[in-house]
Amino acid sequence: MSFVYFDHNATTPLDGRVLEAMLPFLREQYGNASSRHDLGISARRAIDQAREQVAALVNVRPPQVVFTSGGTEANNLFIKGAAEILKPSQIAVSAIEHPCVARPAEALARKGWTARKLAVTRDGKVDLNDVDAALKVPTGIVSVMLANNETGVIQDVAAVAARARAVKAWMHTDAVQALGKIAVDFEALNVHAMTLSAHKIYGPKGAGALIVDKRIELAPLIAGGGHEHGMRSGTENVPAIVGFGAAAELAASRLTELAPRLEKLRARVEQGLTKMGAMLFGAGHANESPRVPNTSYFAFRGIDGETLIIELDKLGFGVAAGAACSSANPEPSATLLAMGVAPEIARGAVRFSLGAANTAQEVDEFLKALKQIIARFKNLTAMAV
Ligand code: PLP
Repeated sequence: MSFVYFDHNATTPLDGRVLEAMLPFLREQYGNASSRHDLGISARRAIDQAREQVAALVNVRPPQVVFTSGGTEANNLFIKGAAEILKPSQIAVSAIEHPCVARPAEALARKGWTARKLAVTRDGKVDLNDVDAALKVPTGIVSVMLANNETGVIQDVAAVAARARAVKAWMHTDAVQALGKIAVDFEALNVHAMTLSAHKIYGPKGAGALIVDKRIELAPLIAGGGHEHGMRSGTENVPAIVGFGAAAELAASRLTELAPRLEKLRARVEQGLTKMGAMLFGAGHANESPRVPNTSYFAFRGIDGETLIIELDKLGFGVAAGAACSSANPEPSATLLAMGVAPEIARGAVRFSLGAANTAQEVDEFLKALKQIIARFKNLTAMAV
């Protein structure tokens, strides 16, 4: 049976062109980029080129790119690295951040910081009134993601950044879920730092970057030989960095083609979902609650999200649950709860995320399969009454 993948917010397949770019560095070009001989020099050149490719995608200068092992490390580097340098005060992060922002922010409590969660509206957008309220207290760090991994809702990061700058706080955005889906411009967002990850843009897992405004100083998480301008020591993972660079160039070259195509497919999915009676999360008025074009987040009243995912998997479709689950204690999505969604509805959440290779035919097959599953559940519930 074929398998149709609709879970691109979890990870994307490695693009063939990215793989081709990486292969020489997994085979014959194995040099250490710190070596002064020919093999070392060519590894260094390859990293320099990747740095330029990543920088170009987000409109920064190459020295602003600090390569890391991924988004998780980049978020930790910013939060812990900034907290080491700044005097302890408040760190304000949105209530819908990925755990790799939320957890390090909470952990700063042990170092004398206070962590403050910024509220979101029912539409899944960070509430700017709550940002204003939060920033009345002395604040050193603010972090608000550019696009949410579950709802896909795009945040008004520039508006939050203006407020953060007004109180002299350092502003960070986790742009992992926005990259490759919408235009991401570091300068326009007016942030001090930004997190990126390669495997969400058809690059390899285990590569990412923190983009840094050179006017701020961060303490490194990993000290050693002084790689990455001293911000991230350790022999560079040349194939992964090269792959990240190639994926960044690919993302830049096809964004204007890919985004509208995925948005059309998403509209097709959501039309079908709505007809079946699904609730859509974060899909409020498009102007108030714009989303990245590939993501749809939905639930059917009375049907558990985990169950839907398992049933869809049996029929050959890969989607994600909105809940971090352990079978005994299904925790509903923190993002949905922060949006004011009732826990019993949040437990039904299913995330559907499109990618570059998905087709209208696949979407139609998905809707057909889902319809069968829903009908079966409705019959079961009817029989139980
Ligand atoms: N930030 C967001 C919003 C994410 O969705 C993810 C991945 O799921 C990450 C950070 C972590 O990135 P990585 O998997 O590269 O560590």
